[in-house]
Amino acid sequence: MTTTDERGSPALIECEAAARALYDYLDGRLPMATEASVYWHIETCRNCASHFAFARRVLDLVPSAVPLAGEAHALRARIVESLKVEGYAER
Ligand SMILES: [Zn+2]
Repeated sequence: MTTTDERGSPALIECEAAARALYDYLDGRLPMATEASVYWHIETCRNCASHFAFARRVLDLVPSAVPLAGEAHALRARIVESLKVEGYAER
């Protein structure tokens, strides 16, 4: 069930929305339509593309099987905070 008209691009979203969806996107937890919008934004926004590439690299270094989910969550929160300090999600 695909529509292939010329306006078939996913809805445009802003950097802030893309940044908010970043970790859910990397975890593959977004609804398909939202995921497409985020993907499209990264493809067209150099600023966000570099942040996403960086975040993906950071997450690759974080073991996926962390014993304590709470700790993993805290670690992730710290990573997000450090990214904010770096200016991510700022326009
Ligand atoms: Zn952006």
